[in-house]
Amino acid sequence: MKARVLAGLAGLAAFLWLLPGPGPAVPVEGYHVAMGTVVRVALFADEDRAPPLFAQAWGLIDRLDSALTHYGVSSEIARLHGIAPGQPKALSEELHQVLAPALELARRTDGAFDPALGALTALWGFPEARRPPAPASIDSALALGGYEQVRLSQGRVIFERAGVRLDLGAAAKGHVVDRTVDLLRAAGVEAGVVEAGGDLRFWGRKPDGRPWRFGVQHPRDPADTVAVEDVGLPALATSGDYELAFESEGRRYHHLLDPATGYPAGRAVSATAWARTALEADALATAAFVAGPGPAMEWAAADDGLEVMVYYEDGGYLRRVHSDGLQGRIQAAPAP
Ligand code: ADP
Ligand code: MG
Repeated sequence: MKARVLAGLAGLAAFLWLLPGPGPAVPVEGYHVAMGTVVRVALFADEDRAPPLFAQAWGLIDRLDSALTHYGVSSEIARLHGIAPGQPKALSEELHQVLAPALELARRTDGAFDPALGALTALWGFPEARRPPAPASIDSALALGGYEQVRLSQGRVIFERAGVRLDLGAAAKGHVVDRTVDLLRAAGVEAGVVEAGGDLRFWGRKPDGRPWRFGVQHPRDPADTVAVEDVGLPALATSGDYELAFESEGRRYHHLLDPATGYPAGRAVSATAWARTALEADALATAAFVAGPGPAMEWAAADDGLEVMVYYEDGGYLRRVHSDGLQGRIQAAPAP
């Protein structure tokens, strides 16, 4: 995740923190570069309590970042890639904590979010990618992928075939946000926000008593942001086609891949998901982006713990749809 600082900064712009103006309700903020992005923590706590809390948070984030990354030959994920089909391999607690819900979310979204797409994502090679891979190599990579090839049993992982590779890039950041929130709550911080490259989770009540409001950026015009009031779910994440992309022979290719085709998904321009955990929001934003507005609205209608907002192109126009729980909670926001 390290090489993605610039992409992460773009993702960061996807959220504005619509916190109140000066006064006692202003949080103490800290920043940390990790997971290829900038992690921001805002604490409603006494200023002198903040430095050790930030230090603990950054320590946790760095540890999780190394535990969950698929970059580098020595990472736990990279070492799993050699295992023989059918051979169970013990997983670290950290990896298990992300892979178990990730496989569940893959089933729920019919594989639009797929944590076993690693052969395909490695082939495309974002963020360094400059041209699309040859079609034949895309087909071979697709044949190696798929969450159905991965099973968990008693803390161990089993790949059903050789060559399966994991990529938790669309869910790990969310998990890290969740764990950071857990740490800060356990330390007694009554309210705050943790955000990492477009994945955000808040807890508690703001001291000024006003509801939480967060901005979701228009995918084509950063100055045009909508503010969304608290929908009763503590986490939200956005996936957009503007975060990481290259152009080749007049065509634009972004990093969110459709497991059905092996190419960048084209059904949405950006998707935001609200969920009970940041891991879920992260994975479901990716899934909603890949599957598009139709399936995303169906998932939200069937689940009290999910709301979605999707921007998509239709006949040359950019349109926005949202699930019922967001009705009446979206307002135009002033430019930052
Ligand atoms: P970002 O990290 O840019 O905020 P996401 O959370 O949507 O965006 O995760 C994108 C990463 O997830 C990609 O860089 C890639 O590693 C991986 N990925 C791409 N397509 C999929 C997919 N369909 N399912 C799961 N992971 C994906
Ligand atoms: Mg995601």
